[in-house]
Amino acid sequence: MKTMRALLATFLFLAPLAVFCGEERAVLLIHGGAGVRRADLEEEREAAVRAVLEEALRAGHAVLLGGGSSLDAVERAIVVMEDAPEFNAGRGSALNSEGVVEMDASIMDGGDFLAGAVAGVVEVRNPIVLARRVMTETPHVLLIGEGAGRLAREQGLVFEAPEWFVMPRQQERLEREKRRSGAANPAAGEPAARMGTVGAAALDATGRLAAGTSTGGMANKRPGRVGDSPLIGAGTYAENGVCGVSCTGHGEYFIRGVLAHEVAALMKHGGRDVAAAAREAIHGQLEERGGTGGMIALDAEGRVGIAFNTEGMYHGWITEAGEVRIEIFDQ
Ligand code: ASP
Repeated sequence: MKTMRALLATFLFLAPLAVFCGEERAVLLIHGGAGVRRADLEEEREAAVRAVLEEALRAGHAVLLGGGSSLDAVERAIVVMEDAPEFNAGRGSALNSEGVVEMDASIMDGGDFLAGAVAGVVEVRNPIVLARRVMTETPHVLLIGEGAGRLAREQGLVFEAPEWFVMPRQQERLEREKRRSGAANPAAGEPAARMGTVGAAALDATGRLAAGTSTGGMANKRPGRVGDSPLIGAGTYAENGVCGVSCTGHGEYFIRGVLAHEVAALMKHGGRDVAAAAREAIHGQLEERGGTGGMIALDAEGRVGIAFNTEGMYHGWITEAGEVRIEIFDQ
């Protein structure tokens, strides 16, 4: 009798939760970079950022509704954010110490376990599209600089003039950084000056997970510096049945900690759920080593893991039913 009552109580407790989780299953989770501070976030900018995040979520969701793959949804959502000057990716990217935009991006298909990435790319409007072409059109995973540019031309991708990428906000940021820390030393600057990358993770109707990340890197970086964003396992990772992850923050720390893959490892070998794994990667490993940043992680059930140790990180997700949620700071 006691057991029956306990079972009934458990069922009553779990039943609404299960329904709730079912309804809330996220299919696309995105971020627009860590490092945002309440004090710096003007109303107008917040509204612009929220609008782009929502547009990216809806665009990716439409792809999924139309039968597109998680990979297609990730690419679509990131293209929207690359094209928006509000983020440090594509147009609006951070400038290197010579005032030039050099971009990095990567994408991974957790189903076929394939990945593509580019680093140090100039003038290519959408580095995430090029990263995907590396995956599908070459036998390689990562192409850099001129070689990556050549593939973009062969593939007929869109190019823009160097000035098209440069936004006054990033020029001011570079000037501030130079005053503060001297030549090419982003690590000496404030966290807010190093961030703003975009990323996405998606789950499609067939259960495939994908993830991608795109960035201009850290303001005042040395020309040729490559961060974590184009490195599979560090800034981006996806594995079917486990999770899709995209990171943002001080790249050198994410590279050394192989943090995107760490989330999958914690889930697979450490029995953590996606939320606990993301928290542990950021508040445990990254923080203990002195790094700052954040990540998004989506599991195979559509549960989200979000963690950041900066004051804020632009992020949001859309459910199967099309409900959008956008957050910036801790609740
Ligand atoms: N992680 C990126 C990098 O280090 C920067 C960012 O997330 O904003 O290049």
